[in-house]
Amino acid sequence: MPGFHGGNNQQGGGGRFGFHGGNNHQGGGGRGGRNNTRGRGAQRGRNNRSFQNNRNFQGRGTRNNEPPPLFQICRFHFTGKNCTTRNCRYSHSIQHVTTIQNSELIPDQNNDNNDNINHPTSGVTPWIDPSGALKIFTSSYDHRFRLYNISTDSNTNGVVLTKEFEHDVKGPIEVLDVASNYLFCGFTGPSARIPGDVGMVHCWNLAQPSDEVVELTMHPDYTPYAHGGRVSAFLTGIGDMCVSGGQDGVIRIWKYGASVSGGKAGFTVLKECCGHVGEITGLAIVGGILWSSSTDATIRLWDAGGAGTLGSGTWECKYLITAKTPPQGAGTTPSQSIGGHTSPITALLPFESPSGSFIISSSLDGDVKIWGSSNGECKSSTNHGVGIVCMAITQDKEDNFILLCGTEKGKIMIRMIFPTASIPEPMRLIASLDKNFLEFGHEGPVKQIKAGPGNTFYSVGSDGNLSVYQMDKF
Ligand SMILES: [Zn+2]
Repeated sequence: MPGFHGGNNQQGGGGRFGFHGGNNHQGGGGRGGRNNTRGRGAQRGRNNRSFQNNRNFQGRGTRNNEPPPLFQICRFHFTGKNCTTRNCRYSHSIQHVTTIQNSELIPDQNNDNNDNINHPTSGVTPWIDPSGALKIFTSSYDHRFRLYNISTDSNTNGVVLTKEFEHDVKGPIEVLDVASNYLFCGFTGPSARIPGDVGMVHCWNLAQPSDEVVELTMHPDYTPYAHGGRVSAFLTGIGDMCVSGGQDGVIRIWKYGASVSGGKAGFTVLKECCGHVGEITGLAIVGGILWSSSTDATIRLWDAGGAGTLGSGTWECKYLITAKTPPQGAGTTPSQSIGGHTSPITALLPFESPSGSFIISSSLDGDVKIWGSSNGECKSSTNHGVGIVCMAITQDKEDNFILLCGTEKGKIMIRMIFPTASIPEPMRLIASLDKNFLEFGHEGPVKQIKAGPGNTFYSVGSDGNLSVYQMDKF
């Protein structure tokens, strides 16, 4: 499992996988705005890209009161109906392109009776297969993960998802991650020799589908599972290691070996990180530091050994961020006074940008906080007036970094992370995907958002529905 780097799917990439508009935005002369885009990009570099400006944002927004976005999304364009309004005053920047509804009954291929079943989606991961085709894996509480092919119907220009494969792991799937050609699946299910269900992680080599599944177990005979409880977070993309987090608050660092048990290839536990007293909700690694978040409302920074020597660290907790205690050594700037979250933390997101490396955290307290990755200094805190459950970073068609935040109430709030020529305020709320206005959206909390290639993104709701979106420019 050498040398892959997860998290690259956070980058928007080229236009190759964009569903609408093809490669126009790369064409150069196609749109009058191209030169403007360049100019703006250059100017952007001169702007103060620091988050410090944003420090007061926290106080400005009224808590439990969602701030109004800069643009309203056009509901006709959004839902794929032709917007015929001349000079439509709503934004045509985002379009919903397709969905997989939990309520669409599908034949149960694993059942002899061929019953029709619901398939509540719990997660999604885009994957570019070895032939270069864009596909998506979905996980479901119906115990199965599925692989879909994405294509465009030449007649309707609509996006079509075609199921290619499904597999039953015999337990509800909580986490699914693809790194290079390895698929990791965390689920709660039966384990050999242990009564009851436990937290399992299975790994498949997608390049060699006939290879046996690799199980991540603490011991193949005596502790044949990854966590005693549910596996709640998973991180890949750190060389030959991966990291799991459990409902039990324990973090385990796993290392791949070509011969680990009975001469077979697999993962062994390199280290355990104990300290959290609630479910692990986020894991991220930047600059040789492992960051973890929990429902215990704290963030912990663990020594992973430095950027060049990942894995050689002590894996001890070096910093603890609570509501009242910003990390020691975080500098002497005024932002040091910004503490951590006051409610369960729901996600951590690494963010590499031309102006530095950051970690972004979200919480049920409604705050999204941006932290300097080197020392855990809080760079900004932005309140949303509603609990944030999940996040993703993507780019619009002008390569601006966009933060997507899924709320407890089913909305997706969209922020421009850095100032632009027309939007001078960092972390500005530019749009909100709101079911009440768009007449389409999630019922209940948004469980997961993932960025795909070509300015696309995906959302999964607690309603079990999966939606695919195409972003243009704002
Ligand atoms: Zn319109």
